[in-house]
Amino acid sequence: MNHDNHERQLLAEADRRALAYFDDIAGRPVFPTPTAIAGLQAFDQAIPEQGMAGAEVLRRLDEIGSPATVASNGPRYFGFVIGATLPAAAAAERLVLAWDQCASSFDNSPAADTLERIAGRWVCEALGLPAESAVGFGTSATACTLACLSAARRTLLARRGWDFDGDGLVGAPEVRVVVSASCHITVKKALRILGFGMNRLIVAPTDAHGRIDPEQLPPLDDLTILCLQAGEVNTGEFDPFAELTPSAKAAGAWVHVDGAFGLWARASSSAHLAAGVEQADSWTSDGHKWLNTPYDGAMAICRDADALATAMNSDAAYATASKDAQKNLTLEFSRRARGVAIWAALASLGRDGLREMIDRHIRQAGHLAASLRAQGYQVLNRAVLNQVLVRADSDEQTVAIRQAAQASGRVWFGPTLWQGRPAFRLSVSSWRTEDADIEALIELLSELKRSTPA
Ligand SMILES: *Cc1c(COP(=O)(O)O)cnc(C)c1O
Repeated sequence: MNHDNHERQLLAEADRRALAYFDDIAGRPVFPTPTAIAGLQAFDQAIPEQGMAGAEVLRRLDEIGSPATVASNGPRYFGFVIGATLPAAAAAERLVLAWDQCASSFDNSPAADTLERIAGRWVCEALGLPAESAVGFGTSATACTLACLSAARRTLLARRGWDFDGDGLVGAPEVRVVVSASCHITVKKALRILGFGMNRLIVAPTDAHGRIDPEQLPPLDDLTILCLQAGEVNTGEFDPFAELTPSAKAAGAWVHVDGAFGLWARASSSAHLAAGVEQADSWTSDGHKWLNTPYDGAMAICRDADALATAMNSDAAYATASKDAQKNLTLEFSRRARGVAIWAALASLGRDGLREMIDRHIRQAGHLAASLRAQGYQVLNRAVLNQVLVRADSDEQTVAIRQAAQASGRVWFGPTLWQGRPAFRLSVSSWRTEDADIEALIELLSELKRSTPA
């Protein structure tokens, strides 16, 4: 068999196996069975002395790996705002793999550079963010937050005449950071890596919905970064941007918004929830959550395009590129064309399709919340977005119901703590989730409520 033929056959075999996986996506256990998980031990071998045939590599992956996957690409996974992958995005990803572009700059890949430029523009249009913003497609909201916050600090210091690139932080004026009391752990991680000590963060108190209370906002000045959020992980609520941002900006502070999933509300009929968010300086959002694109696809969006482009610049004598080439907007130097799947998702949905998907999830979450209340559950949030935060009659019952639901293989959702006590969190974010899947979840939770001791 010649080499080309071999590659074609192997890729066709991968497609055949992938399609078989899709065919069964709604039928497989949402979390793998203990047997399937135990089967993973078969992978625990030394690196083979002699390579095995590609078909054998694939066979092992599929026969051992596929049964032990979590059906997060299916319709009844309600954990972590995970989302599935839209068909056009999945298909684009396959083609992008064939291209295997190093999507650093136009010189590396005209196609990737052009598509990611358009994708960036579309993201800003869909989210109602300033058209002049730079958009870097990074691996995650975590990485993109790191990029945005480095740009923020560098800019605030530059305004004070401090040369951060040359002199670093030793002897620099202190840049203070105000975070919400319910700030996401990955924002803290980014801050910690950047050297903002955790003990020095200034915490803004939140209200019962997990939103910063404007009355209790700590004082801000021109050496402060204010981190707000669009979509609190438990409640799905939004900080009051319209109240907080103008005064923060007037004080000279930099306003960054973590909108990993919640910013997509801007593309829906519930855009009012995030009113005023467009006044911030920088934003992060994920494609791989609510937009339903593959991992790792996220956006660092920065109103002052130069601020991000200088903070992330990686030009070298052998690799100069335009200021806004992707390698100058993200952490990565060599990188995959991850914005292409985001382009494909937006191209296939259109504004209408995007609005319809987000609206549907918000409606489904609202129905879920109302139905669970009717079953005697406590719903702890207002369910304004796609998150439903739930408790049963006692902490023990809450935990037992969640564990039984996870073990059922019929659905999956995860635990959380809300105001110090156990709860569980249902996120509706997969394009595949139909109303019947929500009914199946309600039915299961209602059965479990009756059968689990309070
Ligand atoms: C998931 C999430 C993040 C982190 O996003 P990654 O892409 O997983 O790094 C940050 N903030 C919020 C609110 C999230 O939900």
